[in-house]
Amino acid sequence: MTQRKSPLSILILGIGDFFSKYYYHSSFVILLDGRPVFVDCPDPLPMMLHAASQKSGVSLGLNDVDHVILTHLHGDHANGLESLGFYSRFFRHKKPIIYTIPEVERAIWENRLKSSMGPLTNDEFERVGEMKLEDFFRLRILRPGRSHSILGMKIKIRHTKHFIPCFGFKVSYKGRSFGYSSDTTFDPAHIDFLADCDMILHETNKGGHTEYEKLLSLPPALRKKMMLIHIYDDFNIRRSEIPVAEEGKLYFI
Ligand SMILES: [Zn+2]
Repeated sequence: MTQRKSPLSILILGIGDFFSKYYYHSSFVILLDGRPVFVDCPDPLPMMLHAASQKSGVSLGLNDVDHVILTHLHGDHANGLESLGFYSRFFRHKKPIIYTIPEVERAIWENRLKSSMGPLTNDEFERVGEMKLEDFFRLRILRPGRSHSILGMKIKIRHTKHFIPCFGFKVSYKGRSFGYSSDTTFDPAHIDFLADCDMILHETNKGGHTEYEKLLSLPPALRKKMMLIHIYDDFNIRRSEIPVAEEGKLYFI
């Protein structure tokens, strides 16, 4: 990874796991010549964006969220969808695009958002209709084995080994490339998929996630371009041989 200016950069919003007292949930923004593509949508999204903006000087708020890559539906990656959807519809009159896999498409409305976002009421709070996912968001399906494009960025995805359907991805833009493991157990085939990227953001945690010690077994050249995310609170950042991503920091790739 490099700190010189590059058309491709990432701004880290959160590095923690679901249970963190110290960090926001793992999430970041890919910046393509400054245009933001958000990766996952945790709570509290407005606070995370504000905090990262203050620290980095990159001004981002709910008004800027038009493109979201949604890796899976665990709450620490998806609980911000309601605030994003309500805000975008009622304050911006816009529908952010969610890029995800068919498994998430099948569940996102019926199993996650419908009970809160579905009812349409009048001024007396009487039910007068039913909202649909399409009233809040547009969906674009990503499929493994294919190359897709988001704002001129090429993206390829790969399913991960996780408790629910989930995918990691790699992107390329103007000659630079970046890979994200997303939530996964230690999976050499998944790391192979990401290995040709200029920078790799890899998760680490316990209990079904990728153990830090296993990442240490990787070749030094691969470790050198890797940063960690999705840590548990007691993870020793200072002693980590692989650097941990920093909330609110902008990394040029
Ligand atoms: Zn997860």
